[in-house]
Amino acid sequence: MSSSLRKVSLLIIAIIVLPVLIFSVFEIGNYRQNEKVIQDIYKNQLDAILFSINQYSDDIISNLASRFENNTSNISSDTGNVMQKFFNEMPSLISLVQFDNNQKRLSTVPYSFSHNSVINEMSAYLANNSKTIRQLQTFMANGYRKIEPVNNTVKNSQWIVFLTHQKGIEVINILVIDPEKFISQVLDPKIQEIAKGKFDIAAYRSGEDLPFYTAMKKTSSRKINDREPFWLFTNYMMGIELKDITIADLTKERVKRNLIINGLMDIILLSGAWIIFRNVKKQVELSQLKNDFVSNVSHEIRTPLALITMYIETLEMGRVKNEEKIKEYYTIILNETTRLSGIVNRILNFSQIEGNKRKYFLSATDLNEIVENAALTLRYSLETKGFTYIFEPGKNLPSILADREAITDAFVNLVDNAIKYSPMIKEISVRTYSNAEYIHLEVEDHGLGISEKDQKYIFDKFYRVTETNLANKVKGSGLGLAIVKHIMDSHEGKIYLKSTPGSGSMFRLSFPVKQINQL
Ligand code: ADP
Repeated sequence: MSSSLRKVSLLIIAIIVLPVLIFSVFEIGNYRQNEKVIQDIYKNQLDAILFSINQYSDDIISNLASRFENNTSNISSDTGNVMQKFFNEMPSLISLVQFDNNQKRLSTVPYSFSHNSVINEMSAYLANNSKTIRQLQTFMANGYRKIEPVNNTVKNSQWIVFLTHQKGIEVINILVIDPEKFISQVLDPKIQEIAKGKFDIAAYRSGEDLPFYTAMKKTSSRKINDREPFWLFTNYMMGIELKDITIADLTKERVKRNLIINGLMDIILLSGAWIIFRNVKKQVELSQLKNDFVSNVSHEIRTPLALITMYIETLEMGRVKNEEKIKEYYTIILNETTRLSGIVNRILNFSQIEGNKRKYFLSATDLNEIVENAALTLRYSLETKGFTYIFEPGKNLPSILADREAITDAFVNLVDNAIKYSPMIKEISVRTYSNAEYIHLEVEDHGLGISEKDQKYIFDKFYRVTETNLANKVKGSGLGLAIVKHIMDSHEGKIYLKSTPGSGSMFRLSFPVKQINQL
């Protein structure tokens, strides 16, 4: 890895990869904590709802007490009639027993209740709980009527103690309520209003799992864990849950969703980092290839220039008298000039391709003719380097729709390469043939061959194989095959390469037949 690439990699790791990983680890750690915080928040909200139901029950009884107070002008026998009116309004009321400060019973509603053994229990309660009564009196003296539930043993009935002032006398009231009726008849409308179909609110007898009342009016299969006691009903609890989902599930779902979002963000950021790295790597490699290109091309240009200069100087000095030698020198100068202009042309071609400026003028073209004409230019190079050149033209070859100059360029590039990269067996075969879909031109040599790894890249601009000793020594620009590929792409053609290192290579250019029909 080059040092600039290493620097960029470290930078990407430092500013993207590490922060992403640290943030994710931190966030995942936080989720556990958040889960608990969110659960607590939800629980507090639900508890606040239960609180409001308790508050409401308390208000009902306080209100009732005030109405008792206001509607009974004196403690007399008609108290019973007034009270009975309230009892009719609220069927969950069982009885009201009133005592004075000396625990003397003043009245009992309904009257039938006076013979109940419960009355004796109440008297006993008052005798034993004078402290509680004193507390109620202190509150009353401060303008607040406290409603005190009594832990009584009688089933399905709850005693509630509160004080009233009736005609200047302080009265101790023990109200007996049927809790289950109170909850399912008096509280029910309020609970319905609060639940609004969003919550499941239920009431339980202490120690029982199944509710005797639910706001939803149907027994839920879920067990409600969040329970609070009723302030007024000592043997009863109420519970609340979200309707369709438990808080635990809700928070789990949130955490899951957050984890997925977090994971996706990580994937996006890390993929981004990877794409940046890949691009930078490509750019760094490209700039390395460009550097090599400049030095290769300079060398390629300098060699023919040096030869041309040398032969011209020799001729100019007039030292060579032999006519044949003079002719040979001129030929060398001409060939080197051709080579030079070939290199310059290739660079110009390439720069046109890069700037998308290269234009192709398509016409019906005979591939055999192209090969024959190009061979004339290549002949000198082939002969001087001792190559055997075999051309097997295809018979009845259909014309191709092509730019003659461009196809000649492509063919010359392939033969040039075959010459450059065949150090031992100097034999090049060229053949043309066609089938139903394509017209093919093959250039085959028995040279160095190309490894499978390099076959993937040799059509990339500036790419050169530098591994073998000879390939390293042979000078080139790394542009030839990139130009051939561009030409073939522009002709909707294909390039096929079959090569075995050490045995040689075969490049096949295939032109689609269908284009001819469009002529
Ligand atoms: P250049 O020949 O200027 O280096 P090219 O684009 O023409 O650039 O070729 C790219 C590379 O492909 C060459 O550097 C060479 O290693 C390899 N190559 C091309 N043609 C042949 C061939 N016929 N035999 C072996 N190697 C070849």
